[in-house]
Amino acid sequence: MTLQLYNTLTRKKAEFIPIDAGHARMYVCGPTVYAPAHIGNARPVVVFDTLFRLLRRIYPRVSYVRNITDIDDKIIAAATQSGEPIAAITERFTDRFHTDMDALNALRPTMEPRATGHLPQMIALVETLIARGHAYAADGHVLFHVPSMPDYGALSRRNRDEMVAGARVEVAPYKKDAADFVLWKPSTADQPGWESPWGRGRPGWHLECSAMSEAHLGVPFDIHGGGLDLIFPHHENEIAQSRCAHHGGPFVRVWMHNGFLSVSGEKMSKSLGNIVTVSELLGDWPGEAIRLALLSAHYRQPLDFSEATMAQAKATLDRWYGALRTAAVAPGSTEAPPPEAVRVALEDDLNTPQAIAALHEIAGALNRATDAAERRDLAGALRAGGAALGLLAGAPEAWFRAAPATLAAVDIDDRIAERLAARKRRDFARADAIRQELADAGVVLEDKPDGTTLWRVVR
Ligand SMILES: [Zn+2]
Repeated sequence: MTLQLYNTLTRKKAEFIPIDAGHARMYVCGPTVYAPAHIGNARPVVVFDTLFRLLRRIYPRVSYVRNITDIDDKIIAAATQSGEPIAAITERFTDRFHTDMDALNALRPTMEPRATGHLPQMIALVETLIARGHAYAADGHVLFHVPSMPDYGALSRRNRDEMVAGARVEVAPYKKDAADFVLWKPSTADQPGWESPWGRGRPGWHLECSAMSEAHLGVPFDIHGGGLDLIFPHHENEIAQSRCAHHGGPFVRVWMHNGFLSVSGEKMSKSLGNIVTVSELLGDWPGEAIRLALLSAHYRQPLDFSEATMAQAKATLDRWYGALRTAAVAPGSTEAPPPEAVRVALEDDLNTPQAIAALHEIAGALNRATDAAERRDLAGALRAGGAALGLLAGAPEAWFRAAPATLAAVDIDDRIAERLAARKRRDFARADAIRQELADAGVVLEDKPDGTTLWRVVR
């Protein structure tokens, strides 16, 4: 089977064929760095990281670009509010974004361009659009003239009225058409700005992505990803800019969008006060469990995130690491090809729930198997299948020894030794009391036939 991907542009699933046979090129819209990443921001990162891992298995070369938006009105507003310099805010939240996403075992993209590093390319792109009759300067602004592109709106399939309403575009006297959007806008003395042919100003957000994708991947390239909420106006406007700058030629072959994420049935929003940040979650759960929870629904489906979603992901990893632990197989090579069932699932438009079901079957077979060679093979398959999802890279003991807050791992080992000594002298009351004390602290013991005792933390 070949890789099949669903394309938002055609609303169809089709075989993926990169423009350059040996080189797959993907761009994903990255974070605007003025606040900590929430779990909704983490979903596209984990989804497209899983696709990146799959592409790397198939193609000799993969270029994955994810930008950092470090020029944005939300950043300016945050700086005005806190008094902290803009550069300090963007540095701090870029670092924090990296730390959070590393904890979810997301690989760093091959390139991570920053908007502030691409002003000459953005200005050049605006000049091209003006020269080709697709943009005009007015009142310190430069606007893209939407009626200049006959097939504008092809990605979102909205009609003109819906587009004007959906973009919540400002009615401004300098606009020739209500749907026209900003490529460049003037900056006041206290706002960050760059010299341009239209005066000191700054780029619009859509322009940033068009300039950065072209700078690092060229035009056209293979895959452009992001959340469903970016289809309109952000991606529609990226298409308008990038295609019109290239005489209407193609920009991107496959557009991929991940579904919405809600929290306990509600949309996350500042006003509801239900924003769940990745770092908060990492205080309560292992990053690997958060990653598995994000992959538990198909990427195009909505995902409701709750305590139950997390508990289930944690229990699944307990089960898988538990199976690996009994097999006593050392952490395997993640370069090993994943088992057929996992590969087929992922090549079918990144069907992660089906891949997870396949891993459950392998773990079940491993738990039932008695033959040493068969157990070794199944454990290897579980490892390799996990690696395809960015999971199960650690040692089982390390997973189970993620110590509870109330008891350090070394203390648990001491208690277990004390309990074994009590059992040896047939003081079962003492042994039971220690087992209970550990259970109260969330540590469950499992006595093995060879006399050793394993432990794991439950919540
Ligand atoms: Zn973008």
